[in-house]
Amino acid sequence: MSGPDDASGSAIGKALCAGTATLRQAGIDQPRHEARLLLEAASGLSPAAQLSDRHAALADATLQSFHRLVARRAAQEPVSRILGRREFWSLAFAVTPDTLDPRPDTETVVEAVLAARPDRAAPLRVLDLGTGTGCIVLALLHEYRHALGVAVDRSPAAIAVAQGNARALGLADRFLPLAGDWAAALTGAFDVIVSNPPYIPGGEIAGLAPEVRCHDPRDALDGGADGLDAYRALASCVARHIAPDGVIALEVGAGQAPAVAALLSAAHLRIHDIRADLAGIPRCVVAGQQPG
Ligand code: GLN
Repeated sequence: MSGPDDASGSAIGKALCAGTATLRQAGIDQPRHEARLLLEAASGLSPAAQLSDRHAALADATLQSFHRLVARRAAQEPVSRILGRREFWSLAFAVTPDTLDPRPDTETVVEAVLAARPDRAAPLRVLDLGTGTGCIVLALLHEYRHALGVAVDRSPAAIAVAQGNARALGLADRFLPLAGDWAAALTGAFDVIVSNPPYIPGGEIAGLAPEVRCHDPRDALDGGADGLDAYRALASCVARHIAPDGVIALEVGAGQAPAVAALLSAAHLRIHDIRADLAGIPRCVVAGQQPG
């Protein structure tokens, strides 16, 4: 029996087999799937075309470029960094060394807002603090067709990436990116405030997987000694800028939900919900103003 990547006499199939074996040896989780994505980047052939043309030859230059990409992945560089692209909320986002790589866990924040504000036609004012690629706010603008988004990041380079993503997704006319320190430059109230701030305790960064430690910007990870520095800054800031019936949805690291909820409560906010991600980890603290 020959499998879909049967190597017999096929340059594409052979290259895929070799690339898959290299990635498997390096301990990569989905070696065949990732080898296909890397071959697509090197050759322009979609995974479907790779299957149907598996007996076709590859140009030497294409093969060399594929080997280089496989070597980068084998050295623990994430595929999203190699491709400069990551899917989030089924939308394509450019990712650069200046931005955190969007994670599926962060979709929990988008889901939390959608659950709290089911009317997709609502003209919401959305604020994303520490936007990075813009993935959270742009996913929300994609869902709420009349919403306006303001995205703040301390890194002007990240803001440029978010702006490019907004344009590529056709959302730029409802999107205002700003370089700055949290909400310091902002006035007024927002119906939705979201954030995935840096929350890794500084001392734990050295122990993270190389995919994270070596490739995500340290400023997007480092939450200070206990991981909660950003939430301390955010608590008073979101309390000041949330509309009376607005919704605040903050991503948190594993085990941080109670401490973040306590910080928001101390800023006179009311905790509405703590949502778990797909792995069952409490991942998003949802809050709003106290009634009355
Ligand atoms: N989700 C990232 C990780 O655990 C951390 C992102 C963050 O600090 N906001 O690797």
